[in-house]
Amino acid sequence: MRQVDIAEDIINRFKKLQEKKVKSGKRSKTVHVSHITGECDRRPWYDFRNDPEPLTYNSVTNFWMGTVLHENATLGKRNEIHLAANIRKMEKIETKDIGIYNIYDCVTGTADDILEYEGDIVIADKKTFSTVDSRGNKHDPPSKPDQGYVNQLNIYKLLLYISEGVDAKYGAILYLDKSQSFRDPIAFVFELDSIENIKKKVITKLDHIRQTIPPDRVITKYCNYCPHKKVCAPPTSLIPRWTS
Ligand code: SF4
Repeated sequence: MRQVDIAEDIINRFKKLQEKKVKSGKRSKTVHVSHITGECDRRPWYDFRNDPEPLTYNSVTNFWMGTVLHENATLGKRNEIHLAANIRKMEKIETKDIGIYNIYDCVTGTADDILEYEGDIVIADKKTFSTVDSRGNKHDPPSKPDQGYVNQLNIYKLLLYISEGVDAKYGAILYLDKSQSFRDPIAFVFELDSIENIKKKVITKLDHIRQTIPPDRVITKYCNYCPHKKVCAPPTSLIPRWTS
């Protein structure tokens, strides 16, 4: 049975390596761009008050896959750009200087790639999807970029503007199909919003996360995978079915 033991040992080594990589990339306790891209502000409100759910092995594998992809798919000279800013003061800040007294004034994030195309600045992000799910069901590829991803690139624009004075014109989302080994990438390019509009929306989100009572629920298909579904308890009949 030595071969069985060796096989098990090798599998365990691989799983540990995945877990180590994912856990080493843990974020600082700040309002991260991903907290404020969705429609529901109650979810990030809980994120700052409740203990996070422990990561399932499924989530570990998904994060690991994303990390491997990002480390090996740099689209330009500037990639994995860490950005942090005090949005209320419109000032650049170091993540280490964000604490309890200014946590709901600041936003941090890491943009995948910043490119220049014929004089215009483009912020690009890579997203994965699957046209075949784990049950073998087929899904159409995206026909337009997810609004949450569009919001994400707009917030990067604001952070980049505050940090470096650079006014990015376009956002680009590169969709990559995991189930087809990233064959046939799809890119959506769109004009980014104005700095004033983005700032207004971000401040509203920060205000909602800062308030002492939970913000209103916004029930969408994303409730299906919300880590706070139990405590929030949205009426199940109102949650739309998940469609990719
Ligand atoms: S379950 Fe839905 S409504 Fe409740 S916090 Fe999560 S995303 Fe928001």
